[in-house]
Amino acid sequence: MMKILANDGISKAGIEILENAGYTVITDNVPQDQLIEYINTENIEILLVRSATTARTNLIDACPGLKLIGRGGVGMDNIDVQYARDNGRFVVNTPAASSQSVAELVMGHMLAISRFLNDSYKNMENGDFSSLKKQYGKGVELRGKKLAIIGFGRIGQSLATYALGCGMDVIATDIITDPVKLDIPLGNGMSASTIITPSKDMNAALSVADYISIHVPKQADGSAVIGYEQFAMMKNGVRMVNAARGGVIDESALIAALDSGKVSGIALDVFENEPNPKKELLSHPKIACTPHIGAATLEAQDRIGSELAEIIISHFGGQ
Ligand code: NAD
Repeated sequence: MMKILANDGISKAGIEILENAGYTVITDNVPQDQLIEYINTENIEILLVRSATTARTNLIDACPGLKLIGRGGVGMDNIDVQYARDNGRFVVNTPAASSQSVAELVMGHMLAISRFLNDSYKNMENGDFSSLKKQYGKGVELRGKKLAIIGFGRIGQSLATYALGCGMDVIATDIITDPVKLDIPLGNGMSASTIITPSKDMNAALSVADYISIHVPKQADGSAVIGYEQFAMMKNGVRMVNAARGGVIDESALIAALDSGKVSGIALDVFENEPNPKKELLSHPKIACTPHIGAATLEAQDRIGSELAEIIISHFGGQ
């Protein structure tokens, strides 16, 4: 009977599918520095992680019994994927399960920074009502605004469906420019569909956008996609969201752009130095922050757990 350690947790739905197929699922959260010993003494053959636990070359070398490393979610920057594969391990993830949840967080953030909800929440208790009303009384609406989506993969496309539903004009940019057919569920059984062809010209999109949301992976060389040069091209007062990866927007350039008024508000779900983001970002009145929770909804967790379970069973069969 194969033993699975889901070190960052796994949904009940996932556990159920795996246990029904005869696997033992352990959901202890073993500290990183004790993980190698735990895997070896408990004969763990499958390690499941989310973004917190890392599986680096030292762990891969030190745990010869480990057969599969599974990442619940998309980005696999916490796993030395190629090294693990070169050493005969399966490495899998669940790329599609959380796109909708991330897209919904981005919509929430765009609405929040348009109406200063982040700052208003912080100050209501101690402020004077009339002056707060003035301070937060110059919000803007989303409908009719231009949204540039940088990186038009799964999450970028899902975001487009929500933004179009809100009446925003969507400009998509990507390094791949194939036309994408979007199906837009509208509720009450209605739906719409449209085709969007991403452009490679990010600079053109940056220069006309009222909102910019970035959905590219961490770049192979670690470089920022948005830095000083790109901020300079943007419209004054632009609003932005980064729910992709810390570092795809240069945080020093961002602070400068916020302080100069170039950017009037930004929401960050991801940071350069997770889990200890720069204090000046967290306390900045023009920044709305969440602690990397884009994929953290009950629905996405269920889908992630079930998808991982199905992948494991398809690799190793029932026990
Ligand atoms: P995806 O691979 O489906 O899409 C990424 C797109 O970005 C691709 O179409 C790719 O061609 C494009 N791209 C890459 N580099 C680019 C560049 N320099 N300029 C323009 N386009 C570029 O990935 P996805 O599932 O949409 O995920 C996107 C990002 O979201 C990833 O960084 C992922 O790690 C992150 N993410 C965050 C959370 C969260 O909790 N906040 C959850 C899931 C995923």
